[in-house]
Amino acid sequence: MKFADLVAWYDRIEATTKRLEMRAILVEMLKATPPDELPVVLYLSQGMLRPEYEGVELGVADSLARKAVVLATGATASEVTGSVRESGDLGTTAATLLGRRKRLEISSPLTVHEVYAGLTAIAHTSGEGSQEVKVRTLVELLNRAEPAEGKYIVRFVLGTLRLGVREMSLLDALAVAFADGSKEARTRIEGAYNVSSDLGQVAVALATGSLEALNSISLEVGRPIRPMLAERALNLGEILERMPEGAAFEYKYDGLRVQAHIPVRGEVKLFSRRLENISAQFPELVEELPRAIRHKPAIVEGECVPIDPATDEILPFQEVSRRRGRKHDLDKVQSEIPVCVFLFDVLMADGAPVMAEPFPKRRSELERIVAPTERIRLAQQTIVHDLEAAQRCFDAAIADGSEGVMAKSIAAGSAYRAGARGFWWIKYKRDYTQTLGDSIDGVVIGAFYGRGRRAGGYGALLLATYDPKEDRYESFCKVGGGFDDATVAALPAKLKPKEREERPKGVLTELTPDKWVEPYFVLEVRGAELTLSPNHRAGVGQIRPDAGLALRFPRSTGRWRTDKGPTEATTSQELVEMYRKQVKQSPHRSADA
Ligand code: AMP
Repeated sequence: MKFADLVAWYDRIEATTKRLEMRAILVEMLKATPPDELPVVLYLSQGMLRPEYEGVELGVADSLARKAVVLATGATASEVTGSVRESGDLGTTAATLLGRRKRLEISSPLTVHEVYAGLTAIAHTSGEGSQEVKVRTLVELLNRAEPAEGKYIVRFVLGTLRLGVREMSLLDALAVAFADGSKEARTRIEGAYNVSSDLGQVAVALATGSLEALNSISLEVGRPIRPMLAERALNLGEILERMPEGAAFEYKYDGLRVQAHIPVRGEVKLFSRRLENISAQFPELVEELPRAIRHKPAIVEGECVPIDPATDEILPFQEVSRRRGRKHDLDKVQSEIPVCVFLFDVLMADGAPVMAEPFPKRRSELERIVAPTERIRLAQQTIVHDLEAAQRCFDAAIADGSEGVMAKSIAAGSAYRAGARGFWWIKYKRDYTQTLGDSIDGVVIGAFYGRGRRAGGYGALLLATYDPKEDRYESFCKVGGGFDDATVAALPAKLKPKEREERPKGVLTELTPDKWVEPYFVLEVRGAELTLSPNHRAGVGQIRPDAGLALRFPRSTGRWRTDKGPTEATTSQELVEMYRKQVKQSPHRSADA
């Protein structure tokens, strides 16, 4: 196909603002394109060279493109600058200047294939001298281009094509061009796209076969599947109503979704929810996955969360986002903010697709193929049939540092629905954006040995509130965050005189620290919010019989309240009041309280 044909359609697309008109032009374009050129035409029309997940970028700077325009048109650099000031776009400037140039010989018209090959060469050139090669390749294309062609070539290399052709319009157009345009056809085409993430592949199957040919598109290791998404519910009761067969309640980890592709041999690939290849950000997972996944090739999904190496507790998500996009200092970040992935689904096991299996079957497949390691774990799951059990799971999830629960249908039809949001998965979480206004003065009742950077000393402290009525200390958090290195280094010597092997009298907690500490030291902490917990005992029985209050995401303010003795610390009653106030401020929470 001639590149000029494609450019003529682009001009028409650019000129229209109407959706239906754009679709009609796209249909015309797709029908006129030979099947083997469809992938290229589809990628180019979206301003890409390959399906998005491959992350191929042209990487041509504005200055470089200007240089090519100067060389190809014979204009001076200042002429180009002046013209861009007027037109606002180097593509338009290139077209104007190409129209003025004197051509020595008539060259053969550019084909789509030639332009694509040139652009691909530009994208793949790297290393020393690559800038010159890129300019030269671009000049060669522009030398042969008609003005209108030059306009799109320049826009393309700069990443400013902006035709407004998005994947959804292309899916619509494919349904009309190669099927009957019905809703059903559109749904099937989108379904195939959700599995392949490659419009080119879908288009070729359709153009050379029929809708049935889409069935041949199956999972491939290394090619991401669009992720299944969740609906939300107002309360736990609603979830159980929507899932009358019962539900698998899983912790909803607050991190980064990861789809891991593990071949028998070769490169493990990690994809984000938006299908970007994020393998380079998590070398520790790439390394450990092949060991943890026993039956390859496999495709699994999980949530990647940061873990405090000192306490093994889940840290706030921001810690993971600090790693996103980081290329430098990865070693340092890796040891400071190690991550762990909680796997929650499997799409391929032993090379066989399992997406169509109901969720309980997929979960048992996941358990079969995974040998959990320190970094590769399974998402916590409980099958729930009644409200009480649902509430217990939710409380436990919060107490363990998750942001809520993911309820998953266990019905016969609970297949993995790629790219679809529905009530097969329901998320239920609390809004943690609000942080607790008051700080809390906690009494140290225990200490946990540190790990990683804090190995050899203490990594976290167990804190309690004071209950004057019972004259006892009731635990409410394990705090490892917020300490500076000097404080951590000084802890063993500081605590030594008050350390005990046995639990001191009047100390209440379900946790067992490595060392007990006689109530003496008071430390000021802050946290995200108060939640109910089976492990902590502060105010136990005042809100719910078997639960105490816990502070979520506690952090030391660094302030030892040497002015306070342990009985002057925050009381359990004060904590209960803070909890009640918090529920009042966010009434939707009272349903869980
Ligand atoms: P949201 O981003 O709020 O729409 O919630 C959906 C996201 O929760 C998913 O895309 C996952 O990244 C994340 N998630 C955390 N834990 C789980 C789990 N156990 N099952 C499924 N998704 C989970």
